[in-house]
Amino acid sequence: MNNNKPKIGIYELTGCAGDALLILDCENELLDIFQAADIQSFLMAKSDNIDGDLDVALVEGSVTTEREIEELKDIRNRAKIVVAIGLCATVGGLQGRFTDSEEWGENLKKVYGDVEMTHTKAVQSKPIDAYINVDFYLPGCPIGKEQFLNFFTRLVGGSPPEKYPHPVCVSCKYNENDCLLNRGLPCLGPLTADGCGSVCINHNLPCVGCWGPVEGANLTSAFYLLKDKGFDVEYIKKVMANYSGTKITTFFDQLKKEKQ
Ligand code: SF4
Ligand code: SF4
Repeated sequence: MNNNKPKIGIYELTGCAGDALLILDCENELLDIFQAADIQSFLMAKSDNIDGDLDVALVEGSVTTEREIEELKDIRNRAKIVVAIGLCATVGGLQGRFTDSEEWGENLKKVYGDVEMTHTKAVQSKPIDAYINVDFYLPGCPIGKEQFLNFFTRLVGGSPPEKYPHPVCVSCKYNENDCLLNRGLPCLGPLTADGCGSVCINHNLPCVGCWGPVEGANLTSAFYLLKDKGFDVEYIKKVMANYSGTKITTFFDQLKKEKQ
């Protein structure tokens, strides 16, 4: 094993494993990936996995059991850099949407009834930064191939990865699209982190927010804009919550209070 190569571990918590699969799907680049780094752990790709010290840990999936909390803390202790990859790890995923702890408890009971879990205990789905410090984020549901390769190349080369501080509207305007909101379509571009280059709008489809909320997103303004355009409140809430995980919970709590 070449010790000069950065030691990297790729881990999956709760989710659809789409981000790990996306990495495997980099078929033309896979040999280069394995040559550029010492991939110590990648359950989907290899069987000789090692739980040693790491330069970089890439973690996919949200935290939904007590065992995953322990696993995540162990990864943090072993890794110099921890990166959250994909929407579940960055915001809690679809399974983290819309729920306060009371609703979560009710939903758990609806699905599992009184079945006692013996191997571990379920906890409310949360992004990984609810439990550990995270150094970098690569959002997307799933992450994009081009963005992953760019991200990985920078990490292996020792450079900080690119951040995505702008909303999708920035790429959308750069690509000279007409605004779909003006055509009465519920586009979430103003709320969503721009890493995809506004790919959906470029093909005449509204953004549904799969890159997750952009930092500083004005949720209140977007909510009332869609409401003014005639969309039903419950529909807007569902659309906004889809890919926002736990990051939108406070906004919905405020909305509930306003109604009371
Ligand atoms: S179409 Fe969507 S992404 Fe483009 S400017 Fe309008 S709201 Fe923003
Ligand atoms: S849904 Fe939005 S963020 Fe996701 S790929 Fe389409 S335009 Fe990009």
